[in-house]
Amino acid sequence: KNGVVIVGAGHAGVQAAASLREEGFDGPVVLLGDEKELPYHKPPLSKTFIKDAKAKPQPLRGEVFYSGNAIDFRPGTNVERIDLLARRLELAGGGGLSFDRLILATGSRPRTLPLAGDLDGIFSLRSIADARAIRAMSGDCQDAVILGGGFIGLEIAATLRAGGCNVTVIEAADRLLGRAIAPVIAAHVHKRLESIGVRVLTATTVTRLESQNGHVSAAFISTGERLPARMVIVGIGVVPNVELAEMAGLAIANGIRVDRQMRTSVPEILAIGDAASYPHWFTGMDVRLESVQNATDHAKLAARTILGHQDAYSAVPWFWSDIGDMKLQMVGLTGTSNRHIVSGEPDDNRFSVYHFSGPKLIGIESVNRPADHMIGRKMLGLGFTPTDEMIAGGAPALKAAIA
Ligand code: FAD
Repeated sequence: KNGVVIVGAGHAGVQAAASLREEGFDGPVVLLGDEKELPYHKPPLSKTFIKDAKAKPQPLRGEVFYSGNAIDFRPGTNVERIDLLARRLELAGGGGLSFDRLILATGSRPRTLPLAGDLDGIFSLRSIADARAIRAMSGDCQDAVILGGGFIGLEIAATLRAGGCNVTVIEAADRLLGRAIAPVIAAHVHKRLESIGVRVLTATTVTRLESQNGHVSAAFISTGERLPARMVIVGIGVVPNVELAEMAGLAIANGIRVDRQMRTSVPEILAIGDAASYPHWFTGMDVRLESVQNATDHAKLAARTILGHQDAYSAVPWFWSDIGDMKLQMVGLTGTSNRHIVSGEPDDNRFSVYHFSGPKLIGIESVNRPADHMIGRKMLGLGFTPTDEMIAGGAPALKAAIA
């Protein structure tokens, strides 16, 4: 028996190993990861780790979890190829590993900026190694330029600013945080970042980088301005790690294509987490989400699929981001929103935006209103749409409505 082999030891891969045991799988489980660390939480990297010289990585599970559950965790192992016919993986540096079932949990990697070349002082943030490199330079950071006004870029902007660095955010679109977030939230985040001294430039791009002795020294932007920069952090989105699957001939569509049980076009191979694209029960449309919730719930379902269960993916999507003193929490998928109402006051730094598609509640985005978020998860799980009056009544009224 070759058992289950999991490629990628991030949020999804580690949860898959845990869930296989929790669901009663008693065959061999091998977890392969190309990083050398004990698998760790990624969200703190952009929020706390880079500003605290003493911060340690936060392990997803302690070392005893792997030995205690007979999970053969092999760090520093890079899988190079899937031999589909032989049901075997080829590992970097030689050697191979056979599998009965394979779970691809390869995650995603930051999109790169072609004009960055290979200058020193240019970073992106995905791994603990990236975070250590940023932290090492941010101690005496004077001027940092962040490319990209998405969640990670803005988290890093607020974190570096709190450490005393001069930070400028450059965003090509005319607003922060992409199109999926309500404009009122994007505008609030913009204003609040400016109030702590972060310079935010939208509808602006970087045209050229200047360097001295191989180290970046400034960024020129589309207005012609020269921004001094000892650090440039590129946060312009991620691309899914689909190459292994693609080479093996599995179906790809903005990610490794899976069905509602997380099976790829070859049913013994499953794909989960940031790398997987799937028809979302919530909208019926194909999505590829990048969140801890998505990785965790995929992994739980993949384990059940391997054990022969037939349940289809039905988790409520949610996400959080901490940008300075703003705790943003999102639940649902709001891409098809055609009406929204705001509850609470942006000026108090505490408010929520309820999104509707036609008559139906499809998502809630909150700033420092965790109770709204928690009730939102319940309402969306139940398929319940509150009236405008209930929303105006706040969390107590909503709680009463679904009790
Ligand atoms: P990953 O956690 O990236 O794990 C994939 C692993 O597979 C990696 O270790 C990779 O090196 C390895 N791998 C890839 N290819 C191979 C191969 N061929 N062989 C061996 N190993 C391989 N989400 C939230 O919900 N809230 C947040 O606040 C939040 N903040 C974030 C902050 C940062 C800085 C980052 C980087 C991400 C954040 N996320 C957040 C997103 C969240 O971390 C991801 O959605 C989640 O990690 C996805 O899990 P995954 O297992 O699919 O991928």
